[in-house]
Amino acid sequence: MTRKSVLGEVREVQLAVELIGLGARLQFLEAAVALSRERLIRLYKELKGVSPPKGLLPFSTDWYMTWLANIHLSMFYNIYRFMLDEADESELPALIKAYRLYTEQVGSQGGEVVLDFTRAETMVRFFDSDMLQLSTCCRCGGHFVAHAHDNKNGYVCVLCRPPSRAGKARKPKVAEVRRGGLISVGPVLDIGGAV
Ligand SMILES: [Zn+2]
Repeated sequence: MTRKSVLGEVREVQLAVELIGLGARLQFLEAAVALSRERLIRLYKELKGVSPPKGLLPFSTDWYMTWLANIHLSMFYNIYRFMLDEADESELPALIKAYRLYTEQVGSQGGEVVLDFTRAETMVRFFDSDMLQLSTCCRCGGHFVAHAHDNKNGYVCVLCRPPSRAGKARKPKVAEVRRGGLISVGPVLDIGGAV
């Protein structure tokens, strides 16, 4: 067994603390951080005051297609892609930074964070395994999460064609504004009171 450096171990603990703070599940922590399961559980309990939740990770892509979820996760995934492609981050830092930015964006508009960290991480894996794709809306030009292999021609996003039940909530304002170049043509969303 190789002995790890003290500094290396400190970094792993810092990473674990950050991920637990974001809401990462134990299964994800074990895969992402080189600390034993026992230490991760202890760390989790110290930080949260409770044991890590048990249960399955999300396994279906259907949730990602519901109206409000799709708006949120499309925003998240656009930020994540920016971190990978433009900011040249590797996957885990890109995931952490994109998730932080997403929660900040939603919080700054008084909205509710719909996408939790586990869902965000699972979605990235769905993209990696070719179950989801980004489709470009033919009306607003924004990039939205869609099932892989769906016909991309004539795709209309959930903002340009919201379901009728969405009309009861305040309609999201779509403004084609560049947010520091984060989302190229992406809509800036007012998701405040939308349910
Ligand atoms: Zn659209």
